[in-house]
Amino acid sequence: MKYYSTRGKHSVNIQQAVLNGLADDGGLYMPAYIPQLPASFFENIENKSLPEIGFEVAKLFLEDSVPDEVLKEMIDEVLNFDIPVVPVHHNIYSLELFHGPTLAFKDVGARFMARLMSYYADGNSMKVIAATSGDTGSAVAAGFYNVPGINVYILYPKGKVSPLQEKQLTTWGGNIKALEIEGTFDDCQALAKQLLADEELQKHQVTSANSINIARLIPQSFYYFWAYAQLKKENKKIVFSVPSGNFGNLTAGLLAYKMGLPVDRFIASTNINNVVPQYLESGTYEARPSLSTVSNAMDVGNPSNFERMKDLFQEDVSKFREVISGYYFTDEETKATVQKVYKESGYLLDPHGAVAYLGLIQYQNEQQEGFNGVLLETAHPAKFIETVEESILEKIEVPEKLSAFGKKEKVATLFPVDFQQIKAFIKHN
Ligand SMILES: *Cc1c(COP(=O)(O)O)cnc(C)c1O
Repeated sequence: MKYYSTRGKHSVNIQQAVLNGLADDGGLYMPAYIPQLPASFFENIENKSLPEIGFEVAKLFLEDSVPDEVLKEMIDEVLNFDIPVVPVHHNIYSLELFHGPTLAFKDVGARFMARLMSYYADGNSMKVIAATSGDTGSAVAAGFYNVPGINVYILYPKGKVSPLQEKQLTTWGGNIKALEIEGTFDDCQALAKQLLADEELQKHQVTSANSINIARLIPQSFYYFWAYAQLKKENKKIVFSVPSGNFGNLTAGLLAYKMGLPVDRFIASTNINNVVPQYLESGTYEARPSLSTVSNAMDVGNPSNFERMKDLFQEDVSKFREVISGYYFTDEETKATVQKVYKESGYLLDPHGAVAYLGLIQYQNEQQEGFNGVLLETAHPAKFIETVEESILEKIEVPEKLSAFGKKEKVATLFPVDFQQIKAFIKHN
């Protein structure tokens, strides 16, 4: 199968799409067609393991570019932690995506991408660039740490990630370099795009690790099938609420849907960085500078994957509306929800999961009941300990995996928003 750029008709194979990250024309790669899963795949899906589902889905995208045994091993390694569907209360479930090494859903995509890239690079050296609003960087760092021949440059906005998130970005050493940028996440993202487009750097094989890379989206589609498999016996419609920033996770859900997964609706849940919910309402897309919120991994003013979504829906807002509803919520609503759900149901949401929960409840209030709502719980609450403790007025326990980062020494290089300085650093390090 070929992969084309959303900005042109230029096509490449999967190896090039993964190694390039971003297409030459600045567009994002999309599969030439969405592969379809046979009805038999869904008939006994409840008996399949997560790696089995992952293998069957991935195979359709990668075809014979990776031998079956290698792909199986890759997927077993990537998915070696639980992704449970946990009941919150009547009709509402949490798909817990945070049991990986950095306790955020991005572990799934980043680990798969690192292995796939390293396989396709076939021993050649590469420079991987990632802009992060928090969790991407640590998941990418964990995924690529010690992968031979690959250096990783993580650009993060100074003072705009939580203290523990910062430790998860800056304490790796080795092939992982942290660049602390005196700007916003949007500045980091714009710089990353500019670096990736730079002709001189391209001679050093630069590539992107952001959700613009198709290799992150493919594995993120697996867990929608997995959640469906867990809930299939209840024989109810399923609505997924996805706490969204760059909309990689939601786009992966749309891929699953277009491959045949029976989903009744997707909820695009955001904080006040609400360009997509506003687009769904007004039909006009207006990118804006991002605002800081307590769900900071979603502080994105111009979501990169919107370009893929437009492509999937032929730029037709009425087609978006057939499948997606959008809602957005303030920090006050988010914190009040963390508290309310904890007090009433004993389930502790993180701020991103709380935004997704609010989206489900709002949709439930506007529609008839009778569907199972699944919120994607994208991070462990302890990753946002300040906000969570302030919301529930209790101390929470920090998992050992996470506290271990806190004890290590931060190593980062500080930069103003200055393309030339950053480029020189990447070239020489
Ligand atoms: C990255 C992230 C999101 C947003 O995901 P996108 O795919 O960028 O929409 C939501 N929650 C958490 C915890 C994240 O790290």
